[in-house]
Amino acid sequence: MLNNELPSLEKLQDRFPLVYHTNICSRCLLEEETQSHIFTCTKNKIDIYTCRNKLFQLIVNKTTVVSCGDSCKDFKNELINIEDLNILTKFTTCDLNHLSFIDVILGFIPCKLFEVVLQKVITKEIANQVMDEVMNQFKLFIYENIWKERCSLVREWECNVGIGNDRKKQKCRQQTSDTV
Ligand SMILES: [Zn+2]
Repeated sequence: MLNNELPSLEKLQDRFPLVYHTNICSRCLLEEETQSHIFTCTKNKIDIYTCRNKLFQLIVNKTTVVSCGDSCKDFKNELINIEDLNILTKFTTCDLNHLSFIDVILGFIPCKLFEVVLQKVITKEIANQVMDEVMNQFKLFIYENIWKERCSLVREWECNVGIGNDRKKQKCRQQTSDTV
């Protein structure tokens, strides 16, 4: 479900320009609904910082269970300091050479994050297992708290503006093939 090809309105409009006349977020009506906007939209019931805290909490908990000693002290601070987990805001420039927290929501695990976990759990096998479990639970959390509601609101909007009406889709398809 969650990968870097989420059907945001931006992508849908790219693919079906005759069906989707706009790519403005149908929830806040303020910005284009890009992949990253889906997770930063002000209409989400949880904000992006809450999402990141949840991820950190999952990583710290799972890692603490399998590592011995108090090597996990200050673990959360180590995580906060990983640049690839930064949250981009309107005020920070988007750097194409660096991952950001949005990429992690979309399923990428930055090397630095993996390395930090590996340091605590020693073997790669355990680190992989920890990250698999963390990412599965995290995706579920995002699905339950953001994606599910976003989809039902967009579906509602689509019905209101007549998208999804078969006749309209057919007409659009016909227009597309006419113009090709
Ligand atoms: Zn929005």
